[in-house]
Amino acid sequence: MKIGVLAVQGAFIEHAKMLTDLGVEPVEIRQLNDLTEDLSGIILPGGESTVMGKLLGELGMQEPLKKKIQEGFPVFGTCAGLILLADQIENPTKKQSNLKTMHITVRRNAYGRQLGSFYATADFADEKDVPMTFIRAPYISQAADGVEILSQVDGKIVAAREGNQLVTAFHPELTDDLRVHQYFLENIVRKA
Ligand code: GLN
Repeated sequence: MKIGVLAVQGAFIEHAKMLTDLGVEPVEIRQLNDLTEDLSGIILPGGESTVMGKLLGELGMQEPLKKKIQEGFPVFGTCAGLILLADQIENPTKKQSNLKTMHITVRRNAYGRQLGSFYATADFADEKDVPMTFIRAPYISQAADGVEILSQVDGKIVAAREGNQLVTAFHPELTDDLRVHQYFLENIVRKA
């Protein structure tokens, strides 16, 4: 099985490594032609959502990817990837251009400067004590009906799922715990 990892900007190598560890072949997605039919899903990594959104537009990938996701293509967005999928952003940058496929509202850089980066452990879906690394992370401030909340830290939603779309505000790929990626593969990709 092949899973794409958007590789135009940000922390994609760590996701690719996690997929390899789970026996899946990662495919770096750098241009529209890389979005081939044999992919079973895609990961949108952390990085800078404004830059990633802009590059997706310039590379002509924004609309095709949006259409695929709306048609059920499994997608997992971490941090900036979560912001790319959110249909509402409380505090967008002027140039923010997003896929807007998931019915959530996010707050960018939501934890303030002193808490710019932090580490926590929390439950994620049925998994206990999942390690979570947050880097200038967003959180989900509102979720529509139909969005399943998978994890909360300090009362803030930090992971959610809507059908074929999974998002985390934290970076599971920066830990050595494979359970969040495994959840994506088992509950979304293999059931798509
Ligand atoms: N703050 C970044 C943004 O707005 C996200 C940070 C991250 O992905 N680690 O895109």
